[in-house]
Amino acid sequence: MKASLAKEVNRIAGLIFLAALAALAVGHTWPLLVGLGGYIIWSTRQLFALYSWLVRDDHTEPPDSIGLWGEFYTRLEHLFQKERRAQENLQGIIHRAQQSVNALDDVVILIDQHGYLEYWNHAAERAMGFNASQDLGQPLTNLIRHPRFTGYLSKGDFQDPLEIPSPVNDNRILQFRVTEFGIGEQLLIARDVTRLHHLEQMRKDFVANVSHELKTPLTVLKGYLETLLDTLPEEQARLRRALMQMDNQSNRMEALVADLLLLARLEGTEADSVRQAVPVHGMLNRMKENALAIGSDKDHQIELDVPLDARLIANPAELESAFGNLITNAVKYTPANGTIRIRWWQDSCGAHFSVTDNGIGIDPAHIPRLTERFYRPDNSRVTETGGTGLGLAIVKHVMIRHDGRLEIVSELSKGSTFTCHFPAERLVSKPTAVAG
Ligand code: ADP
Repeated sequence: MKASLAKEVNRIAGLIFLAALAALAVGHTWPLLVGLGGYIIWSTRQLFALYSWLVRDDHTEPPDSIGLWGEFYTRLEHLFQKERRAQENLQGIIHRAQQSVNALDDVVILIDQHGYLEYWNHAAERAMGFNASQDLGQPLTNLIRHPRFTGYLSKGDFQDPLEIPSPVNDNRILQFRVTEFGIGEQLLIARDVTRLHHLEQMRKDFVANVSHELKTPLTVLKGYLETLLDTLPEEQARLRRALMQMDNQSNRMEALVADLLLLARLEGTEADSVRQAVPVHGMLNRMKENALAIGSDKDHQIELDVPLDARLIANPAELESAFGNLITNAVKYTPANGTIRIRWWQDSCGAHFSVTDNGIGIDPAHIPRLTERFYRPDNSRVTETGGTGLGLAIVKHVMIRHDGRLEIVSELSKGSTFTCHFPAERLVSKPTAVAG
């Protein structure tokens, strides 16, 4: 390029020199003006030629030219060729990526930061009924209108997947996972989990049916045991002990069946089927009296720190089960003369209910698994306390159904605090939150 520049400068200098010589020879300046004017006209024509070449789409076959202009065209043509090759390469990659995404059985959907549809694959067309000519650029929530789906997207917590029926076929169940990327963009991947869902449903139905079927034989057994205990002569002490043990175990079985049925109901029904402004103080005060009665032999001190006007938008029966389980556990796992504190408070994050005891505590290593069904850190406690091992699983389910979470803090031999956190939307002071 440098050499061409020097040549062009030489050419201009030569032209000026020749024009100046001619001007001297004729004794007038017009040869100089003609020379310079000619050069300017030639350069302007080159500029126009360059412009019309640049605005063309293909940028092939540049105009013929000499000197610096010729060099310009050659270099620009090379640059365009390079860019064309890079673009073709990129398009090839995009095409291959699209082909492979289209070959997937899983649904892939891309939405922009405003929730508008940007891209989807063939599986999405089959499972969602998307149509390229109508749906591109539409808000996704206009096309998938399931309330749980819109709630899931607006909540923005994508730790757990979401399962909903396919918008085009109620019999197919899709499991959605959302990954955020870029500036608020989202990648949604959905797969058909109908088979798994059916298996899970069969498991739930089986447990619920068995529990239900056990109720009648248990009632009959308990009835006969009671009659036998009532009519047994005093001198038959050994038989009485055996019957009493049978009575205890049948009571435990009854509690197990009741808890299993409650869990089945919590899993199998829509949350929020019942929503009321529940006066919490009265409920907790009753539970405190119950707790004192259950643990009457342990002489616990139970403190109730709950504002009189505390209220929560909730299902009262479910709330009672959850709170009742936590308070009963505190009584069960706190030795005689221990202290139990029941608290309720509200702040900008929502409402909080906690039960603190200074009982036997739990090794923190067990805490992550504590809400699993039948998980017990120490099996020897089972016979001592007669629990079902389902209490905390019930609490966890109730909290999920109330958009809340259960927090457990505990130290072995020091005591435990179980806290239920409810979101601010469930506070009664929020006018929009109140519902029938
Ligand atoms: P369980 O019927 O055995 O009490 P839960 O699901 O209610 O079943 O509790 C699971 C386990 O968690 C219990 O077996 C017990 O070991 C432990 N646990 C629950 N609450 C407390 C508590 N307040 N203090 C100590 N351990 C507790």
